[in-house]
Order: sequence, then C-alpha cells, then structure tokens
Amino acid sequence: MISRYYRQFARLANEKSAVKKDPQRHRVYAMERAYIGTCIDITMSIQKLRAICDHACKSWGVEPCKVTAQKMKGKVFGHWFEGEIILNQSWNGMNLTTLLHELAHHIHDELGIEADEYDHGHQWVCIYALLLDQYKIMPLAAFKALCKKYNVTMWG
Ligand SMILES: [Zn+2]
Repeated sequence: MISRYYRQFARLANEKSAVKKDPQRHRVYAMERAYIGTCIDITMSIQKLRAICDHACKSWGVEPCKVTAQKMKGKVFGHWFEGEIILNQSWNGMNLTTLLHELAHHIHDELGIEADEYDHGHQWVCIYALLLDQYKIMPLAAFKALCKKYNVTMWG
C-alpha cells in the first residue's frame, strides 16, 4: 500500500509539472471562482458526497472512486489522485461543485480517452460540464457560454 506521505508528495510533484503542461487550468479556475463556485457555501455531509460519487461512477460506467475528507492547509478545495478524491474540511471542500471538479479528473482518467491530454484539457472540460448539468449545478448551455467568455476550450 502506498503511504499517505508518498501520495501527497506525488500529488505536489504532479501539480508543479501540471502548471506548465496545463495551459487553460487558470482560466478554468477563474471561471469557477466567478460563476460556478458560488454555491460552495452549501456544504454536504461526506456520506451524501460519497453517495453522489458512487451514483456518478455507475452512470458513467467507470470504477468507483474513494471520497475522503481531510483538514488541509491553505486555500485548497480538494484533490484527486489515482482513484481517490480528498476534500478539504477546513476550507470549502465539502460541497457538490468541488466533488464534481475532482470527479471529472477521475472519470477522465478512467475513460482514458486521450492519455496525453492536459489535466484541465478540452475533454476534461466536457466531462466537468456534463457532470455540472447532470447534478443541476449549471445547465450545459450556460457552461458553454462561460467557456466562450473565459476562452476555455471544450470538446464536443
Ligand atoms: Zn482540477
């Protein structure tokens, strides 16, 4: 079993390289801050978030993803790393929007649709958009309009 410390190290190393290789990541974050994340104050229990995660994985036909809550330092909502979503209990992580962002990484990885695509690339954006629509955070048409405004490329 991989230790928690190794996983945290690997995540940080991955994040550093992702900054260079992930050109629209900051535009996605800006879009989320301005519009999509307005409901992050609506917190949910870990049980409810796990149930939604299980439902989504079944409906997308991918392996289930583990969901845990941790107290993280800094303004971090959450992370996904190899089949596990970790949500920040200390700062705005326990909500549906954060879960769906991280879940889009899981589904993107599970589907393996384009192995060399960026973390927040056009196919990831498409999965995220469909999840936001599926769980009634934002209709797909509104998300597409936002992508145009923020110059975020979406597949499909
Ligand atoms: Zn992300």
